[in-house]
Amino acid sequence: MKIPDDLVQILRKSRRIVALTGAGVSKESGIPTFREAQTGLWAKYDPMQLATPQAYRRNPALVWDWYRWRRKYISEVEPNPGHVALVEMERLIPEFYLITQNIDGLHRQAGNEKLIELHGNIFRNKCFEEGIPIDGVDNFRDFPPQCPECGGLIRPDVVWFGENLLAENLELALQVTQAAEVFLSIGTSSLVQPAASLPLLALERGAVIVQINPDDTILTPQVHFVLRGASGEILPQLVRITWNSV
Ligand code: NAD
Repeated sequence: MKIPDDLVQILRKSRRIVALTGAGVSKESGIPTFREAQTGLWAKYDPMQLATPQAYRRNPALVWDWYRWRRKYISEVEPNPGHVALVEMERLIPEFYLITQNIDGLHRQAGNEKLIELHGNIFRNKCFEEGIPIDGVDNFRDFPPQCPECGGLIRPDVVWFGENLLAENLELALQVTQAAEVFLSIGTSSLVQPAASLPLLALERGAVIVQINPDDTILTPQVHFVLRGASGEILPQLVRITWNSV
């Protein structure tokens, strides 16, 4: 894929760049996106039906088992060259922020620190009743696990469908998006709100919008640059050509 010269010039001049990532960024690490078929035992379940507070209240053992399975395979994969390139961007760009919809923790593992995990992190837990953080990932005595303080259910610290984002995360995401000179939308179908509205907000504020995705999305007609392809290939190439790095 040829990176357009005018994009390279814009990136070199920009101090404030924001990247928003989705499940596509982790695909080359071996993590399936939500909209792909699930495998084995889980093939018959729709993730959209499992990742809800109602599903957990109805059948906590089933949903906990699903998270246990996801944690296991996520813990066996590694960040890919796309993740590594985003760490390099944080090092090279004066005011870089990474906003992710992914809950797999791979950006943190790769080394990004100016990072907003908009939908939480699958390796953390919290009390369903009081929201307090709970130590431990999967090593609880009871199943489904119960909060040692109040006896309520322990749940993964992720944002489920129908739930609100953590206010401080959303506020910071809005703040950096509004200030961005360039906004990169990478590996996301741009369907899940409120993340999907961030590139539109950046556009409204005059930012240059870039999409990196092998397929078109609902955002495609609105962006200034479309880089069609896998993020694990395009991001390292972009960093190499623009900043002579990676
Ligand atoms: P999505 O599944 O709706 O869309 C994934 C997008 O990635 C698609 O547009 C697809 O064309 C693109 N894509 C596929 N391969 C790619 C590649 N190699 N490089 C770049 N792009 C690629 O994902 P979404 O938009 O993130 O929304 C789904 C929701 O599911 C989010 O809320 C997210 O939290 C959650 N989710 C997270 C993970 C994870 O943490 N890894 C995995 C599945 C779902």
